[in-house]
Amino acid sequence: MGINLPVSGPAVVAHGKGDLRIEDIPLTTPAPDEAIIEIAYGGICGSDLHYWLHGAAGESILKEPMVLGHEIVGVVLQQAADGSGPGMGTPVAVHPATPAPGDARYPQDRPNLSPGCTYLGSAARYPHTDGAFSRYANLPARMLRPLPESLDLRTAALVEPASVAWHAVARAGDVKGKRALVIGSGPIGALAVAVLKRAGAASIVAVDMHDKPLEIARAAGAYEVLKGDDAKAIAAVDADVVIESSGSHHGLASAIKGATRGGKVVMVGLLPSGPQPVLISLAITRELELLGSFRFNDEIDHVISALADGSLFVDPVKPTNSVSPMALKPLK
Ligand SMILES: [Zn+2]
Repeated sequence: MGINLPVSGPAVVAHGKGDLRIEDIPLTTPAPDEAIIEIAYGGICGSDLHYWLHGAAGESILKEPMVLGHEIVGVVLQQAADGSGPGMGTPVAVHPATPAPGDARYPQDRPNLSPGCTYLGSAARYPHTDGAFSRYANLPARMLRPLPESLDLRTAALVEPASVAWHAVARAGDVKGKRALVIGSGPIGALAVAVLKRAGAASIVAVDMHDKPLEIARAAGAYEVLKGDDAKAIAAVDADVVIESSGSHHGLASAIKGATRGGKVVMVGLLPSGPQPVLISLAITRELELLGSFRFNDEIDHVISALADGSLFVDPVKPTNSVSPMALKPLK
């Protein structure tokens, strides 16, 4: 094809609790349906941090070294040999999921729920699924989403987490004209604020324990922010839709307190495994709808268009001083 393909490249490999290494990993021959991607940016997910710091993310426990990273974007270095997917030089975002259709019972229109679904950089299955915090990665063409010209790679690094937020908001149905409350204003919470804003929520209140996330949530579109877990102030929000993105039972308690009678609480923050003390009686007497939210499906395509046309504003969530791209230098 006129270019010399690399034989290896650096990657971020989690070996176990507290054991993270930068290693040179060989670039294997891609399968016929796989393209070689030169990775440009990668967002760090809470799960990446958990694998590094605890050797596990929720129920997913590291049993062998695994390349981290699933919030990644890059440029096609070599198109898949079967001709599918974007061609060489195309900037792409990546849908990290590989659903596993089969006989198991799950809603067919929600492949994110298919048992056996794998995800880049996840130890949920064994053998684990390597991620792509690496200079090069072989990725199935069906995972690749070409970026419109108006969407730069660095912004596109938010496509994956924004899709998680989009899916969470979508779980609540139409939020237009609704009062919204977001508990936990980390990246997913702040992106949920941006998605709620775009979807026309009448008011958006963001809650967090710290100033910086609240500053970002406000810049992303929150009309009001609340610091701490003042039960009275949170209850006064009286929200039609609450997005719980803190992943703690305290946060879930706040979410329930902040929901209006007959309201919806979407739980996207992953709580630790095992029983959780939760203020559930109020959810019963208020007839709340408690909705789980896990990853996403085709929302990624909506997110890419909304980022490209500027209707989804995520700039406040982008780090101000990210390192320069790992690559994007032309290969000799
Ligand atoms: Zn993630």
